[in-house]
Amino acid sequence: MTDKAAGPAIALHDVDLSLGRGAARVHILKGISLDVAAGEAVGLVGPSGSGKSTLLMTMAGLERPDKGRIVVEGTDLAGLDEDALARFRGRRIGIVFQSFHLVPTMTALENVALPLELADAPDAHARAARELDGVGLGHRLHHYPAQLSGGEQQRVAIARAVAPDPAILVADEPTGNLDEATGAQIIALLFALKRDRGATLVLVTHDPGLARLCDRTVRLRSGLVEAAVPV
Ligand code: ADP
Ligand code: MG
Repeated sequence: MTDKAAGPAIALHDVDLSLGRGAARVHILKGISLDVAAGEAVGLVGPSGSGKSTLLMTMAGLERPDKGRIVVEGTDLAGLDEDALARFRGRRIGIVFQSFHLVPTMTALENVALPLELADAPDAHARAARELDGVGLGHRLHHYPAQLSGGEQQRVAIARAVAPDPAILVADEPTGNLDEATGAQIIALLFALKRDRGATLVLVTHDPGLARLCDRTVRLRSGLVEAAVPV
């Protein structure tokens, strides 16, 4: 089922997805085919509503397509039941959101330890502390999200995403809720972690400067890939 050396890190073939019910049903992804090579950084750009977030969540296994194939690290996601998919996601894919998505009732340390505990890592708290130290938050281990700035919360979220050492990182407008200077620090951190760990990165962004840091930009329009150009 897994054959990492042979194929791309992420392969989407003719992926179609509609979400919502009844009159609110929207045909969002309209036959997307896209390969992302191992170690590549891809910037996903396009107008608001073009389907960027939905595509990112679909390639991360958070949405099941109505049609088409998604193969991540050699594993066809359609072949995994919900439990297996959640386990696969937890170990192989790190996800960073615009609005951080930390658990508010857990400290920074507990947030970062959570995916490690779910993956049965024996030393979850020690590893989480090291990850937080690595993102410059060694002095904020026992703070709750509400006690942290936006930039600090995003650092916790990034530490959580990379803690299980995933092969793939996806980030949906990770600087969208941050001021410019803080956003630049977060991007530097994300790319440094990507490079150090040899991960593959798919990043949704509106920022042309950020898109230029990627190896390639893929532009969506109305649920279709408009252009996949090297930058
Ligand atoms: P982007 O991230 O490019 O702004 P999205 O992927 O968030 O675009 O959304 C694409 C389109 O799908 C939008 O028109 C949005 O309103 C619609 N949409 C997103 N999620 C849902 C949902 N759960 N139910 C119905 N429509 C949705
Ligand atoms: Mg979006």
